[in-house]
Amino acid sequence: MRSVTFTTRGALGKSSLREANERLVLTYIVRQPGISRLAIARATGLSPSAITGIVERLKVAGLVVDEKTEPSSQVGRPPSNLRLVPSSRHVVGVEITPFDATLVLADLVGNVVERREIAAEKTPETFLERSNVALKEMVGGVKTPLLGVGVSIQGILDPATGQVIAATNVNWRNVEAMRLLRKDLDLKFYWDNNANLSALAEQWFAVPGSASLDNFVFVTLRGGLGTGLIFGGHLVQGATARAGEFGHTVLYPDGRKCLCGNHGCWEEYASDKALLRMYHESGGEPICDSLQVIHRARSGDKAALSAVAEAGRNLGLGLMNVITGLNPAAICVDDFAAVGWDLIQPEIWNVLRSRVPDYWLAGVRIFPSEHAIHSSLSGAVALALSKYFTSFHNGQMA
Ligand SMILES: [Zn+2]
Repeated sequence: MRSVTFTTRGALGKSSLREANERLVLTYIVRQPGISRLAIARATGLSPSAITGIVERLKVAGLVVDEKTEPSSQVGRPPSNLRLVPSSRHVVGVEITPFDATLVLADLVGNVVERREIAAEKTPETFLERSNVALKEMVGGVKTPLLGVGVSIQGILDPATGQVIAATNVNWRNVEAMRLLRKDLDLKFYWDNNANLSALAEQWFAVPGSASLDNFVFVTLRGGLGTGLIFGGHLVQGATARAGEFGHTVLYPDGRKCLCGNHGCWEEYASDKALLRMYHESGGEPICDSLQVIHRARSGDKAALSAVAEAGRNLGLGLMNVITGLNPAAICVDDFAAVGWDLIQPEIWNVLRSRVPDYWLAGVRIFPSEHAIHSSLSGAVALALSKYFTSFHNGQMA
């Protein structure tokens, strides 16, 4: 975990200051497993006695333990190392897609300990009601404190209510997704769209010491094409939480009709469904799994190789607009582009290098997501965890 940003407005009261310091110490222990009290004191500027008091409270809450160290020949007590107890608390992550809902129970470092899938039904309402029942069953069996539920939903959402205003891929309009999903559940719920949460997952679960993801764009190709934008370390939502819909910027003005009503949108040429269409148009049999096209390309299937190359070029064309418009330090891609990165990457860079001046491309890193097809589900878990670690309210310590 990395890039946790603390924001303080105005002077802190005594209890808020205590919470903020506890949160700060806990975050150091999460980021640097095995860190000593002295190292935390040095890093935070808090006194060693203050750190000792905070760590005691975290230990009483079951969140932290002292790691046993090897006996040393040094005189005096050996320094003990602190570790988070990942199984001391849990969160739930939910991903709602056009085809199914996936529910996972995860610990404090994101390890999944339980997983359930619910197939989509005829109406979004019955689908979400069934998901609500499955969620109740899952949380009913949890023995540790449950910190919250993070939910990933495709489409344009009302940020305040979690209502799906429009989801073109599933033809949902004004679906009260969060009201139905959280019905009769007394838990903290957090939600966002799949592209934003995919970006959050990449940032939250980044390996410590890896390159900065404070200014980057996540391009999800799963179930359409959307982007999650993180700039200045934070998700960019826009005036009405609709930022990042690059999938509906136009690549070919006279191109294919898009479900949004426009023509030639990027989504129609570089998403998972676009890859499947191009594979079929190149002579491949109709299939519904974009990763299958990658597997077939690897085995030399000519139609698959052609479709993958075309999708890669179209991905590059759209990324050209993203790079020149937003100046990101990095771009991450998921789904078939992550799984087939060795095949896709050359196509993307051929387009970029032939069309974009060097001064725009200098330093831009484009890389595949480690979460591949599970990026937004990981993001739902990351959302619930990030809300806990970055807003440590009274009561959550108990
Ligand atoms: Zn469109």
